[in-house]
Amino acid sequence: MIARTARMLGFEVFFPIGIDRNGIGVERYTEKRFNISLHEIEREEFLSYCKKALDELEERMISIMISLGISGDFENYYRTDSEEYRKLTQSTFINLWNRNLIYVDTRPNNFCPNCKTTIADAEVIYEEIPADLVYVKFKVEDEDLIIATTRPELICACQAVLVHPEDKRYEKFVGKKALLPIYKREVPIIAHPSVNQQFGSGAVMICSYGDSEDVRLFRELKLKEIVSIDSEGKMSSNAGIYAGLSTREARKKIIEDLEKNGLIVKRESIIHRTPVCEKCRTPIEIIPMKEFYLKQLPFLSKIKECAKNLTFYPEMHRQILINWINSITIDWPISRRRGSKTVGN
Ligand SMILES: [Zn+2]
Repeated sequence: MIARTARMLGFEVFFPIGIDRNGIGVERYTEKRFNISLHEIEREEFLSYCKKALDELEERMISIMISLGISGDFENYYRTDSEEYRKLTQSTFINLWNRNLIYVDTRPNNFCPNCKTTIADAEVIYEEIPADLVYVKFKVEDEDLIIATTRPELICACQAVLVHPEDKRYEKFVGKKALLPIYKREVPIIAHPSVNQQFGSGAVMICSYGDSEDVRLFRELKLKEIVSIDSEGKMSSNAGIYAGLSTREARKKIIEDLEKNGLIVKRESIIHRTPVCEKCRTPIEIIPMKEFYLKQLPFLSKIKECAKNLTFYPEMHRQILINWINSITIDWPISRRRGSKTVGN
């Protein structure tokens, strides 16, 4: 509509049609369409299946666009998986790398154990999923401190126990050390206002990483991270006897072990707001991984300055851009792990 209007007003309009042929959505569609798994066939073969699936879809998409009367250039449309397009993507990457704007760092990332890739915050959705809230005894000198958790398999990665500063029940424990069950390692007991006194026992363990709140607290309290889950979504060697199990299997097993040793005082079925992968609805894990990052933090004030000087139609959209700039707290993780048979990670 905008292109046609401009053309009718006498402007010379360049309106290319582009077909997006990349992304996890394409991979999922191809797997379903041909009943294959990306993780079980060779990379080149999988790509040729993707191409086949996309060619079928593309033909339909183009004919729909034409019948809608879209006035783009259908003679010269581009595809995001063409040789030229890939060249452009790669040269952009190399250019940014040469200008020191891209770096490699290890940081906690959202990871889908089913898609076997890191995913952006925007690709995480929340679902109400039933969970077992277990009340576990941690020893503090001669006394028991009861921790409520839905993720007992992460005890191996616990680096602190938190209680609310105004919680009279736990006042006497603050500043002392709690002894982790099974692992027999000591962690500090810290008073912190983020704890919800009404949830569970009011005492929580902070592990790397149960959820994004753990990530935040590890940063704030300068705790040293322990990698509990590997890039296959399995328990790491830090989990001791549970190493190699999936988180679900490890959870079941550790609950049995804790119960056998009389270390569980109560179990409750709760509905837990759980972060899941938008594509496949698998609960996500937060795993520290090596990824490529594109610097964006050093440019925020400059972009904000630009946002002030641009003309917006409608004016309210200026605030959308400013809110977005203000929400950026880390550099942009740009790598994606695609676990095909030949490439691995
Ligand atoms: Zn997934």
